[in-house]
Amino acid sequence: MHAKPKLGQNFLVDQPAVRRIVEALGEIAGRTIVEIGPGRGAITESLAVRAAHVVAVELDHELAAKLRDRFDSARLTVAGEDVLRFDFAAAAAKAGERLLVAGNLPYAITSPILTRLAASHAALDLAVLMVQREVAERVTAAPGTRDYGYLSATVQLYGPVERLFTLPPSAFSPAPKVHSTVFRWRFAPRFAELGVPEPGFLRFLRQAFAQKRKTLANNLRAAGFSPGRVTGALAAIGIDARARAEAVPVEALAALWGKLEEQ
Ligand code: SAM
Repeated sequence: MHAKPKLGQNFLVDQPAVRRIVEALGEIAGRTIVEIGPGRGAITESLAVRAAHVVAVELDHELAAKLRDRFDSARLTVAGEDVLRFDFAAAAAKAGERLLVAGNLPYAITSPILTRLAASHAALDLAVLMVQREVAERVTAAPGTRDYGYLSATVQLYGPVERLFTLPPSAFSPAPKVHSTVFRWRFAPRFAELGVPEPGFLRFLRQAFAQKRKTLANNLRAAGFSPGRVTGALAAIGIDARARAEAVPVEALAALWGKLEEQ
């Protein structure tokens, strides 16, 4: 069976990398793991022998059928569906615990998958994900650095992220054009600590980061905040009036949100 490029099918053929991904999940004995895009089962095999149960979410029905044939259903359930529709909350309820997530992701839908995981945070404990190197650099970047932006801010709002290791194209078959990086994401949302409501603050971040070349002040004005309110709130929080959102730590953006709300 040929790989389907449209489904991002670049299969991992580097055994040490498989071991490192599984180790990065920590203690998995007794745990339920959701694997996103198991493909030909490169990582699935190692997960299934160690965990209590693996739920493998695979959109390609031929690959899903092969996985069903290969694994004992007591150890592995194959969900032949789109991960963007997968119900993580229901899977966690069934498991009776928050889930571990693993996956060498289909790169074309990385951002929607990260958004889906963020939205499902209450059902999740920790994720170890392989993505395109440049995306991992953005996800894990610190404010004020070249790669920091909306994706970094929103992912990090849901908990700490760490970059673990990078693989060359030769670790996959067929080889992709890009390098790949594995990162770990521990789900510990910061909304309560920052004193902001989840949907309202996410909307505010979309406005603050709307146009990369514009200053934070200009993006907020474009979103409908009055110039006077914006100038006053920035000054009250101590944010430079010419700063771009990319340079401002999320704690200061949360304080700014509070100031604008109170006016
Ligand atoms: N885990 C395997 C490995 O490491 O060799 C395969 C990884 S491959 C990069 C991505 C996998 O995700 C493919 O098996 C592909 O069919 C599957 N996939 C693509 N889009 C998907 C979607 N929307 N939902 C679930 N699986 C998807």
